[in-house]
Amino acid sequence: MRATQLYAPTLRESPAEAELVSHKLMYRAGFIRKAAGGIYSYLPLGWRTMKKIMQIIREEMDAKGGQEIMMPIMQPAELWKESGRWAVYGDEMMRLKDRHGREFALGPTHEEIVTSLIRDEVRSYKQLPLMFYQIQNKYRDEIRPRFGLMRSREFVMKDLYSFDRDVDGMNISYEKMYDAYSRIFERCGLKFRAVEADNGAIGGGHSHEFTVLAPSGESSIAYCEKCNFAASDEKAELKIIHAAPEELRPLKKVLTPDCHTIELVKNFLNVPIEKTIKAVAFMDDEERLIVAFVRGDHDVNEIKVINSVAGANHLYMAGEKLIEAANSCAGFMSPIGLNDKAIIVVDQSVMEMSNAVTGANEVDAHFINVTPRRDFDARKITVADIRMVQEGDPCPHCGEPLKMTRGIEVGQIFTLGKKYSEALNATFLDEDGTTKYFEMGCYGIGVGRTMAAAIEQNNDADGIIWARAIAPFEVVVVPVNAKDSAQLAFAEEIYNELAAAGVDVLLDDRKERAGVKFKDCDLIGYPLRVTVSPKTLDSGNVEIKVRRSEEFLNFARETCTEKILELLETL
Ligand code: ATP
Ligand code: MG
Repeated sequence: MRATQLYAPTLRESPAEAELVSHKLMYRAGFIRKAAGGIYSYLPLGWRTMKKIMQIIREEMDAKGGQEIMMPIMQPAELWKESGRWAVYGDEMMRLKDRHGREFALGPTHEEIVTSLIRDEVRSYKQLPLMFYQIQNKYRDEIRPRFGLMRSREFVMKDLYSFDRDVDGMNISYEKMYDAYSRIFERCGLKFRAVEADNGAIGGGHSHEFTVLAPSGESSIAYCEKCNFAASDEKAELKIIHAAPEELRPLKKVLTPDCHTIELVKNFLNVPIEKTIKAVAFMDDEERLIVAFVRGDHDVNEIKVINSVAGANHLYMAGEKLIEAANSCAGFMSPIGLNDKAIIVVDQSVMEMSNAVTGANEVDAHFINVTPRRDFDARKITVADIRMVQEGDPCPHCGEPLKMTRGIEVGQIFTLGKKYSEALNATFLDEDGTTKYFEMGCYGIGVGRTMAAAIEQNNDADGIIWARAIAPFEVVVVPVNAKDSAQLAFAEEIYNELAAAGVDVLLDDRKERAGVKFKDCDLIGYPLRVTVSPKTLDSGNVEIKVRRSEEFLNFARETCTEKILELLETL
């Protein structure tokens, strides 16, 4: 392709709202344009990269037996009512009505549609296993659309759904997808980790998130350097922290005027923070009060709290009234003396503490010398792992101190079991003549988020640095002066030769100053630039700039295509 026929507007400035470097660079390099908050158009360069990522995804899905289909974006509310998710999905779902007043959703995900499709199509175990996938726009009315394509309201997702006869089959499908995802992100040239994840609202068995490592990422990951354990901070299971045995002192109430935070209490009573017990009061959808207790230096993990309380789906901060109704007051809560209106969840490590401090369920008073295993009423509390992981916590597998890092979730895989097949009554006839529900899995990749993550991980002050596999063009040939016919002819010759060798090459035949063209090349981030100048014409050599290493190489004209092909293999 020729640059004179390519719409690739480069800009000096980025939009004021752009915080992330990927957002700024995608805008400046002419990849995307905003239509509304979280809704974008892709310009030719951006769409070229998107298509390359989608092609890699397709190849790896197909290699595992995935079959590409296309399902409707507009989905009838009835199916979502059947699964029960119409009511619980909340404001993130884009809803609309047709002229007859029938309700629809713009698909945020496709479990309902695909399950109903299979329910109507597949009758026998002989037709299984099946893996259907599609690549299309998804819609989520995110509370805070931001960071460009990273968190948008309309975005391209690959979603695959697996249908198996039994759990073993489902687990094989899961392994296949785990493997395919690893290959996809490797081929995209990304540094990533597959981490154990919570399967959240989607329910079901196990899950992994594929996370591209980047300081700007919204996900926090705990990992072990010794045994390869890695989990999202929400998921990371924790071991009980045992405390050294101590002589137990009798429980005592003391006055603590205005000490309504852990910081204030610890200073007032002059105790280490590890000796304090912190309370966080939540309310769930049924307006039940749920009070979580963790050590003062720990943080409550809401997902773990939800998972430990039967029937809890969402948590909100509890108001004063609920707390008062449970015989307590905010800032001074304790499991000792809360009435039956409170569901009490205590972190497992709290139960190991002795001579600690909690509130006394009355204003300006705390208990000291609290020893939970002696002082808490075991019948009224649930003990569970409910805290967030912290750097240095022992690895749940090998005990080594854990490290923390940040990343961008680009894909997630789940086993769903029978959750949707039961809800939508999707069955098949098994070999033994019995009717069974399908065992399902679902597997998503954000295509635009993957493009953005690649830029987050690969950029410098001059612009983007693409891996060859997903670069909008692999090589750009730049005659420094396109008005000079000898230079242009020489550049065209190289361009034609490269194109004939199968290289995805651009000829920058614009009659711009060399400096402008070079800046554009660096900003857009083509892996290799071939420069044609009076010097190269005289010497019979061509000059190559490697974008990533900033190296300049000189190759003889005759061997340059071969050398470029070799070089591309390494990029
Ligand atoms: P997040 O936790 O970041 O909101 P999610 O866990 O809700 O994402 P999934 O339902 O697992 O997302 O969707 C599969 C993939 O789709 C994600 O891994 C991500 O790459 C992509 N994705 C999800 N939401 C968005 C969004 N708002 N904008 C762009 N990509 C998204
Ligand atoms: Mg996810």
